[in-house]
Amino acid sequence: MNGKTHPKKIYLPEDRLPRAWYNIVADMPNKPLPPLHPATKKPLGPEDLAPLFPMELIKQEVTDERYVEIPEPVREIYRIWRPSPLIRAYELEKALDTPAKIYYKYEGVSPSGSHKPNTAVAQAFYNAQEGVKRITTETGAGQWGSALSYATQLFDIELQVFMVKVSYRQKPYRKTMMNIWKGKVVPSPSELTETGRKILAEDPDNPGSLGIAISEAIEMAVKDPHTKYSLGSVLNHVLLHQTVIGLEAKEQMEMADAEPDVVIGCFGGGSNFAGISFPFLKDKLEGKKPDLRVIAVEPDSCPKLTRGQFRYDFGDTIGLTPLIPMFTLGHTFMPPAIHAGGLRYHGAGAIVSQLLKDGFIEASAVPQTESFEAGLLFARTEGIIPAPESMHAVAQTLREARRAKEEGKSRTILFNLSGHGLIDLGAYEQYLQGQIHDYKVTDEDIARNIEVLDQMGFPVPE
Ligand SMILES: *Cc1c(COP(=O)(O)O)cnc(C)c1O
Repeated sequence: MNGKTHPKKIYLPEDRLPRAWYNIVADMPNKPLPPLHPATKKPLGPEDLAPLFPMELIKQEVTDERYVEIPEPVREIYRIWRPSPLIRAYELEKALDTPAKIYYKYEGVSPSGSHKPNTAVAQAFYNAQEGVKRITTETGAGQWGSALSYATQLFDIELQVFMVKVSYRQKPYRKTMMNIWKGKVVPSPSELTETGRKILAEDPDNPGSLGIAISEAIEMAVKDPHTKYSLGSVLNHVLLHQTVIGLEAKEQMEMADAEPDVVIGCFGGGSNFAGISFPFLKDKLEGKKPDLRVIAVEPDSCPKLTRGQFRYDFGDTIGLTPLIPMFTLGHTFMPPAIHAGGLRYHGAGAIVSQLLKDGFIEASAVPQTESFEAGLLFARTEGIIPAPESMHAVAQTLREARRAKEEGKSRTILFNLSGHGLIDLGAYEQYLQGQIHDYKVTDEDIARNIEVLDQMGFPVPE
């Protein structure tokens, strides 16, 4: 093992940047179930989504073509940070004294520091093509708002971001990033919408929530024919765009003469997990790699995949979206205030949920303190300070690498480092001060929220 024959960083030349995204639906034995209209419980048609999304994205939402071409202007922008590096974590392996080989794909090299621009740029492009002048969105911690701000200004689209008021106050630098990229940001609830005005009239100090921010963004989009709405995770087309990560990684692993036994991604709504894993999962679905393990890692304080139910539920917390077939804790479930804001989501995308139900992927849950310990070890060995979300993928990697050591077996682990944590240093500061703790979610908590779905008569697919 020396650095000369085994490179640490594996770079794919720019001319091998993928030309098409991979649509896993084409290879799934059971297709994801259709979204339903919440009132009629009938499957939705494309026309139901037309007020919110451009037609091309609606087509991608329902397509079963195996590959979808990446438009040349999108590839041109991807080239600013893509292909992203694949890195062998030699220093981490040494610290763990493990026989496992650990590789990670690093998405923190993008302009906003995470994988999110991979879909933000594509979405902005299709909106621009269809003449959209303005996009609205919500953001919690600010990662999505900053990625979409970067992308929309490239295509001369105006962006209105509704940022949950507490985060707006806690994360001033995320707002600065959005403003640098010409995104307009208001704390939500705001005076810009009827929803916001009504809430503020009743409660001027309302701290806001993702649910309120979503309603504000949707209201503004629906009321103006030149305005559309955009989402950074969960939906099929978002997962599709993120597969550029795994397609590159697959080529890079081949260049390194390695094949993963385990692929790991942290899990909020499923986009970076799908991005790294779907191109590898293709081999498992085709029967070529039956033993490949693919693991989605969630915080144990928001355990939708490990302790939730597979059934129809709202995608948002107040019930504006269609019903989506997903693993869910119930849309009324309030996740504790962990630092991995991007993982505080009650549900999961339809494709990933179906794959979990069918046993093609596994899920695992990690306590917050364990994620920080893992993040710190990673920062002290590999140097990169992981985003709080990405720490969860690191933590699961450590579990697998330590098990490999116990069993005295080598195995090759690939994980997605979905972003860096340089704008989340407040969280690290609290950890270093000993102020990070774990939260317990009881079975009763979960049952109570699931009961709401029973009362609403939301179907449970067989
Ligand atoms: C948003 C975010 C996530 C979670 O979202 P997914 O759609 O599940 O990928 C994970 N990591 C980072 C760095 C994020 O910004």
